[in-house]
Amino acid sequence: MSQSDWFQAYKSAAQFLIAGPCSAETFEQVLETGLALRQQSVDFFRAGVWKPRTRPGGFEGVGEVALPWLAEVKKQTGLKIAIEVASPAHVEAAEQFDIDMYWIGARTTANPFAVQELANALQGSNKIVLLKNPVNPDLSLWIGGYERLQNAAIQSLGVIHRGFSTYPKSKYRNSPEWQIAIDFRRELPDVPMICDPSHMAGKREYLAELTDIALNLHYDGFMIESHPNPDAAWSDAAQQLTPAALEAFMRNRKKAVAET
Ligand code: PEP
Ligand code: MN
Repeated sequence: MSQSDWFQAYKSAAQFLIAGPCSAETFEQVLETGLALRQQSVDFFRAGVWKPRTRPGGFEGVGEVALPWLAEVKKQTGLKIAIEVASPAHVEAAEQFDIDMYWIGARTTANPFAVQELANALQGSNKIVLLKNPVNPDLSLWIGGYERLQNAAIQSLGVIHRGFSTYPKSKYRNSPEWQIAIDFRRELPDVPMICDPSHMAGKREYLAELTDIALNLHYDGFMIESHPNPDAAWSDAAQQLTPAALEAFMRNRKKAVAET
């Protein structure tokens, strides 16, 4: 069994899609979002439980109280659940609930000690684990993180391209640096590669152009943030789409790509 086999089950689907709010805020918010997304071709429901904030003082996630909320969203919607984990303590808490997928965030991927600790905590796991690119544009650090997970015999693996920090900033929150993802694929062609245009864009208005590039580059799927009331979101308010807007967005993307 290869570590990318899990993805073959989704490959024939219209478009592999992970969607949901940046952060779990309240039970009502995650349930409302999940019920709306269930009507669309969403495969996994995402929500951040612990939020890695660059500076202290912001909203750092509601924490493990959200885990039973997400288990209930899964029960009521049938959607599989994805959350971010950044430490063995997060994995231990999440393992008490029926979470299907863990992603490792960009700040965590930049730290090989943290990735190794997660790899050890997830040794032999049958959960799907997706590794985001590191915040800094370093292909080896991204591949190295992937190899740490691979060596831990985690059964189902993939990566997420969410763009890179630059100084000064480009028009995007995180510069895509498409070539880094292309080079990752050249070295590890079988690894499912998901594009996260939300964290690249930082603003809703840039989502379309980034998603269309990723579609033309044949990414294996997308992770897109969706919130019932984006402007009132507790994190990443400027980049999220309502579930209804997300549905229209995905429909228009297919048209846009068919025309190019
Ligand atoms: C997120 O997915 O909400 C997140 C914090 O992502 P990143 O690690 O890409 O910043
Ligand atoms: Mn976010």
